[in-house]
Amino acid sequence: MPTALLHRKKPHLAEAGAPSSLDPWPSGSYNRAIVPLETHMGRIIFERANLIDGDHAPKKDATIVVDGERITQVAPKGKQVKRAPGDTVYDMHGRSLMPGMVMAHFHPTYHNAGVWGGPIDLQHPPTYAAMLAAKNVQELLMCGYTSYIGAGTIHSIDAVLKKAIADGVLHGPRIVASSRDVVTTGGVVDNVPYWWKVGLEGIALLCDGPDQFRRAVREEIKRGAEIIKLYITGGHGLPWDPEQMAIGQDELNAASETAHERNKMVRGHVVSKKGILACLKARVDVLDHADGMDGECIEGILKNKAFVAPSIFYPFRLMEEAKRRGEWENPRWRSVERDFEKTCAMLPEASAAGVKLVVGDDYGTASLPHGSYARELEIYVKRAGVAPLDVIRWATKNGAELMGTGKDLGTIESGKLADLLIIDGDPTADIAILQDKKRIKAVMKGGQFEKNELKE
Ligand SMILES: [Zn+2]
Repeated sequence: MPTALLHRKKPHLAEAGAPSSLDPWPSGSYNRAIVPLETHMGRIIFERANLIDGDHAPKKDATIVVDGERITQVAPKGKQVKRAPGDTVYDMHGRSLMPGMVMAHFHPTYHNAGVWGGPIDLQHPPTYAAMLAAKNVQELLMCGYTSYIGAGTIHSIDAVLKKAIADGVLHGPRIVASSRDVVTTGGVVDNVPYWWKVGLEGIALLCDGPDQFRRAVREEIKRGAEIIKLYITGGHGLPWDPEQMAIGQDELNAASETAHERNKMVRGHVVSKKGILACLKARVDVLDHADGMDGECIEGILKNKAFVAPSIFYPFRLMEEAKRRGEWENPRWRSVERDFEKTCAMLPEASAAGVKLVVGDDYGTASLPHGSYARELEIYVKRAGVAPLDVIRWATKNGAELMGTGKDLGTIESGKLADLLIIDGDPTADIAILQDKKRIKAVMKGGQFEKNELKE
């Protein structure tokens, strides 16, 4: 196996600003147009917080100190933090303070996708798609997600959003930018009738053979992609047999190896066991969905240190809608239901075995509107029987590790960047409260409030 498949360094988001290929004259802040909501000269101290650190059980009455962009102290109950002139002190009254969440499968450029029936990239002009995406990432941030990892972008908008946020043009989360979909001719994504004579270049690059995959991956990286989106099989809501491979093993290997050579990651839409094993052979970093995961797959996933984004909210919503429309008896829903139940049954086992699970789904499709993000977390608890604390760990610690920023983000610890959210109530007792934006009292990214309804 080529060494590039075995050794790769994840992009470290905290070090990386905007993608260099989009910034030929990087001058840092030449476009800085946004003034932070509040500029704090001194430290910010949160007292009497229910601390959910992203890993352990909650600790009551903790004190968390933020100085500049970082957390500088986390004091347990009973330990006094010496105040200094200029400190701003907030009494949390037992509200929960937790790490900002990471949406690890996200398409900000999808907006009512599927409603018009045609290809997603032809729904709007690219400029309007970018505006919708800008709105959607701000919505994501206000819902307590301070980072996202792209799972397929149209018109390479992820990388442009990342640049705009880094330049201070707009408020938004930290981003690991996705590529467009890199897929085969006539494969899962290439379903536009040939006689329409339209290309898919807004959403996908059609490749056949390892060389074309190598070229496409390099092209996407040049456009600022940090993670390459591939389609390995159909299924999980896509009209394509999950048992049929949508890409050859040689093509998959070439795509993965090329991305890893340039220190970028690869993710694949994959459902069947056959597809999962092909991904493991090619050392794909993120398995999207992985409905057919079994004990053998789990072993390989652990060995490869791959991540899994189950995204079961999407099929759950499709089934919910089918029932509402009275179409539930249609046989097509039996396989969706079977895959959903199978994944639900497998998730607690995978989680207990140590598989790094992450959250995220196909928000922006018609059945999954933007803003409904935290309902996904509830599905893992209520339908798959995963403990709320585990789901929170998927959404924080695991997400940050996947971004390559585990040292800087994902948990509340002294020395880490202050990406956090403050919520009324305890999500480890009732995870559904994360869906209520009125309960989210503050969102902080890098020590700056993005939302602040707290009273000093
Ligand atoms: Zn997706």
